[in-house]
Amino acid sequence: LSPPIKRALISVSDKTGLLDFARSLVTCGVELFSTGGTRKHLADAGLPVRDVADYTGFPEMMDGRVKTLHPKVHGGILCRHDHPEDMKSLADHGILSFELVVVNLYPFEKTVANPDVAIEAAIEQIDIGGPSMVRSAAKNHAFVTLATDASQYETILQQIETHGRTTPELRRQLAGAAFARTSQYDTAIAAYFAKILGSSPLPLPPSPGTDHRSPVTSADAVTLHLTHRTPLRYGENPHQSADLYAFADAPSHAFVNAEQLHGKELSYNNLLDLDAALAIAKALPRPAVAVLKHNNPCGAATAATLGEAVAKAWDGDPLSAFGSVLGVNVPVDAAMAEYLSEPGKFIEAIVAPEFHPDAIRILTTKPKWRDNVRLLRVGELPVGHGARQFRQIDGGMLAQNADDLPDEPSEWKVVTQVQPTPELHHELRFAWAACRFVKSNAIVVSNNGALAGVGAGQMSRVDSVEIALKKAGEKARGGVLASDAFFPFDDSIGPAAAAGIAAIIQPGGSRRDEEVIAACNKHGIPMIFTGRRHFRH
Ligand code: 5GP
Repeated sequence: LSPPIKRALISVSDKTGLLDFARSLVTCGVELFSTGGTRKHLADAGLPVRDVADYTGFPEMMDGRVKTLHPKVHGGILCRHDHPEDMKSLADHGILSFELVVVNLYPFEKTVANPDVAIEAAIEQIDIGGPSMVRSAAKNHAFVTLATDASQYETILQQIETHGRTTPELRRQLAGAAFARTSQYDTAIAAYFAKILGSSPLPLPPSPGTDHRSPVTSADAVTLHLTHRTPLRYGENPHQSADLYAFADAPSHAFVNAEQLHGKELSYNNLLDLDAALAIAKALPRPAVAVLKHNNPCGAATAATLGEAVAKAWDGDPLSAFGSVLGVNVPVDAAMAEYLSEPGKFIEAIVAPEFHPDAIRILTTKPKWRDNVRLLRVGELPVGHGARQFRQIDGGMLAQNADDLPDEPSEWKVVTQVQPTPELHHELRFAWAACRFVKSNAIVVSNNGALAGVGAGQMSRVDSVEIALKKAGEKARGGVLASDAFFPFDDSIGPAAAAGIAAIIQPGGSRRDEEVIAACNKHGIPMIFTGRRHFRH
């Protein structure tokens, strides 16, 4: 059923690899037809090629907006070679069949990647005839071979050179790749419109056959447009296969675009932990270091110098810090590198805006883990802006805006009789900033700008309090305690007071707030209500 390839229609913006491909096609006896620029490119190289405009009898017009939108083009692509009526239509109207179509599209994505591009210039880069030919050829892949990317030329050519035609399997694969490409192209156009229209795009109409659940908004559809895929060695466990994907609209400073300067291949768990480490570091005053294990901070600290900050962060829980990943919010310097290189310390990876050359040398030249330590540079550290975040559930997906907007201490309320001192207020801000990055139920005890104890991921808040206080030990004395959500009962205040906690911060909003406030008043502990909770599941 595969027709021999007699005629090729070629219209490409990206002319990479085209001359070799076209030359070999001519050698195989294929007749070439092309649009303006492509035709000139081929003819200049001495290849015989016919002009589509001559063939249709219509010149290219309107600055190239109309070149190939003609029945003599689309009839020639869409004709079913096993339908006598289709073949009769060709003969009746002087239409030639094209068995090979080679099209790549106007560089819309590249054009709008330039932030200064004028809207009119971007619009002009929306290809019309190209995607139409791609669609026609892909639909008729039972008979038509379609190349939409230079990487496909070689395989197509091999088959034509050996058999004069292509296999149905290859044609179907190429059609699939072509539809993926046009959908990617249209998504890029939709993304551009979402951008120029601002953050509230109109919802798309529901597709026919769907029920009354809301249609997908273009903002989510745009973000979910994935570009490159990086296969990972495995997922959370060795028996799970895994990949890393990047969103098409991820800015250059997004973690997914971080540059790995040194070390072994990143694992799935490394990526999760580094992403969390960077998020915490971003939220803390500079300079700060966050030490992550299993997606929770076991240490985090801010200090006058980075060298002090890393020591304080590590000392939060030195046992857990072994084998951790670190997030840093300033360039990593030699002092930090020296500290981490001390005997008995082992880390998996560091993510930071930048690494001083001395730091890289110190972190990488020594034996054992330092050959492997992964160093990731992200460049800028922009503040969060509530970008969309996605998680999968069985057969579906959840989307929310990221909980990364800065705290608003001006909206906080002291609800107790005693006020926190300015020093304690400062410490409460630190504890509150760190608390939102701990899995719920989250309790953070901090002292002197460093995490002293963390209670993470417990199903009851009292258990998290108990763990955080136990972890902090003597460091709880004079420190502060933060809770990611309200205390449902007053039963956490007694243990906090007994451990020497000097101030508490929590969102408030419980039915029993009055009882919790009364317990704090009884112990003389100042407490702040932030009015905003930070669950993290
Ligand atoms: P050329 O360099 O050959 O002049 O133009 C090639 C480009 O034009 C290809 O990217 C192709 O997708 C695009 N193209 C082909 N036909 C049409 C058409 O009728 N309208 C528009 N807007 N683009 C077309």
